Amino acid sequence: MVLKPSKCFLVVSAVDLKPDVLHAIQNWISVNIPEWAEFEIVSSGKYLGVWLGRGGEGKTWEEPSDKYLQRCIEIAGGRAPALPSIIRYNQRAVSVFAYVAQVFPVQDNLPSLEQRCVHKMLKLPPNCMNRKLMHSFDDFCEVVPACTVAWCRAAMYRFARRERNFLYSLREEMFNVLGEHLNVRSLATRSIPLGGIPEIPVLTSLLNAIELKGDHSVYQNAVQHSPLLQWFKGGQNALNSLQHDPSGTLDKMQTKVYKVFRDVETTQDLGHELTQKLVITLGDDLAGSIRVRSDWFQQLLPTLSDCKPHSRMCLFKTIIGGWSTTSRMHEPTKLNCIFGCKEEQDDIRHYVACAPLWQIVGEVLSQQPPLSLAERLCLASSTPLAVQRIALAFHCYHYTKALCTGENPQLNVQNTRGLQRAAFESGRTFLLHLS
Ligand SMILES: [Zn+2]
Repeated sequence: MVLKPSKCFLVVSAVDLKPDVLHAIQNWISVNIPEWAEFEIVSSGKYLGVWLGRGGEGKTWEEPSDKYLQRCIEIAGGRAPALPSIIRYNQRAVSVFAYVAQVFPVQDNLPSLEQRCVHKMLKLPPNCMNRKLMHSFDDFCEVVPACTVAWCRAAMYRFARRERNFLYSLREEMFNVLGEHLNVRSLATRSIPLGGIPEIPVLTSLLNAIELKGDHSVYQNAVQHSPLLQWFKGGQNALNSLQHDPSGTLDKMQTKVYKVFRDVETTQDLGHELTQKLVITLGDDLAGSIRVRSDWFQQLLPTLSDCKPHSRMCLFKTIIGGWSTTSRMHEPTKLNCIFGCKEEQDDIRHYVACAPLWQIVGEVLSQQPPLSLAERLCLASSTPLAVQRIALAFHCYHYTKALCTGENPQLNVQNTRGLQRAAFESGRTFLLHLS
């Protein structure tokens, strides 16, 4: 294969490629290797889908990050319920990082991008869930959003482990090439000199993944204690014990490794986490007035398993404050209660007690809803009907809220009777679909 000079790049990584450096290199080349004069001189260049050189990591992650965001917007636009949306998200969105995650460590901005995208995909107001909670609501939904950070690091681990013989021999080769330029620190720690590039060398990242160092060090404890990853046990040096790895294929291994890594990024006590969320959702005063048992969440679990997935998710979204009210969404026009309560705001703290809303819910179900807020919120005496009821309230609210748009949404809100009738009719249709 013959490369055209105009298609070639000279990547300068040892120093910052300032104009005077660029000019000096161009001059030197034109004098000493004139046939290279057309080479483009850059600080990083794309090779096999990844950018090598200064700032290469950031550039490499840009493309899949944009794609990830676009796919999340597409999934959100599909208006599907949570379960199919999450399945699609795990298959179509998270997977865009599969290639780059093998060689470049997760970027610092990925967790916040993921948080934004998961909320968008689930049509939730921003920051209803912290990063751990996003991956931990298994009791409300059979499938939860994959933990992107753990997923990417498991992908790197798999790749590095598959190529480990090559990687270790490459390191030895590099020490030989460096010859007398190798410094004592690098030799002592068997680390790769940075060579003027601020980012961690690709080879270092990959060896760190195998040895659970660097970014992967957060998983050391989990790996040591996991029955899933028996091959890690029996010594400080994970590499040595890896030689006795009894696991099957690499794909199975990646799944196991992902599960163990993911556990580090999930909430260990969902009941406690949700109790804390309730205080934020309801506010101090209201939360202080609702009485619950300390094991309310354990009591709720058997009920949840008897409920439809969509109802469970509506309850979850209610607990975490996921109603898209004008106050929660920080919309420019703050509405009053859309069911006609004068002086009350369009706010979930009002809706858990809103008389017209709960009357509509009661009429749809042909059953008077309980007066106790703990029961309405399924924090006490929960039954599948109570979960269905909160799902119905959630639906009636969001259906009706969608009618209060346009240039002057407050005008729509004044049509109380019309909105209440619309809420009732949509509630009946919703119930037909739910049962
Ligand atoms: Zn109201």
